[in-house]
Amino acid sequence: MGGINKDIKLIDENGKRIDGRSFNELRPIKIEAGVLERADGSAYIEWGNNKIIAAVYGPREVYPKHMQDPSRAVLRARYNMAAFSVDERKKPGPDRRSIELSLVISNALSSVVLLEQFPRTAIDVFIEVLQADAGTRIAGLTAASVALADAGIPMKDLIVGCAAGKVDNTVVLDLNKEEDNYGQADLPVAIIPRTKEIVLFQMDGDMTFDEVEMGLNMAIDAALKVYELQKDALRRKYINLAQEDEQQ
Ligand code: UDP
Repeated sequence: MGGINKDIKLIDENGKRIDGRSFNELRPIKIEAGVLERADGSAYIEWGNNKIIAAVYGPREVYPKHMQDPSRAVLRARYNMAAFSVDERKKPGPDRRSIELSLVISNALSSVVLLEQFPRTAIDVFIEVLQADAGTRIAGLTAASVALADAGIPMKDLIVGCAAGKVDNTVVLDLNKEEDNYGQADLPVAIIPRTKEIVLFQMDGDMTFDEVEMGLNMAIDAALKVYELQKDALRRKYINLAQEDEQQ
């Protein structure tokens, strides 16, 4: 959040944003399930200019062993931005931001996976951001939950989200990189769609209570649309598999 910048106009006189969207419009989104052969489950998402792969391994043995939990599986998500994913080369390896994002994503996914069914095991979720354009934590989480379902891991529901925020004193949906950099606030939200429970809620910048409420409602409505795309990606994968079986 760079704070309001008078030199950069993010919304024009017709109410259009720099990429031509209206205030409550999502970027184009494509999701594909089962893109990696080696992983137990995987998914690829394009969300605007974000390109992200998620891979799931497990339930499997826990190393180091002292991390085992006798009552449930431990779900460990690792969010990573590739060095080439942004204009300025990102230093490889974990930094404060990626450690924080790995934690909030692990917590969100743990709220839907039936961890008690797999005591003493680990479920590892890798999120690799290949190209970043703001909103990567939510896009990564959205792909990760499809990858978990693709791995056949029992879950109460998928997790899905969207960010809202504030640019040029307007509450907008799904900020892109310029809006994230030069806007006034970013509000990533993730939910369990069936119950609308909020499992990730963060805010960077300044918004009034009414603006937060409006942003939150916009983000939830949009997340429910993305949920349809997640289910569609999983359906397509299984239709393809069934067709391959028929041909054999
Ligand atoms: N970003 C970057 N370098 C970094 C971290 C972030 O260029 O080290 C960019 C990247 O495009 C990212 C955006 O800034 O998507 C917004 O980052 P933020 O921390 O708000 O997370 P996100 O919106 O991606 O969940």
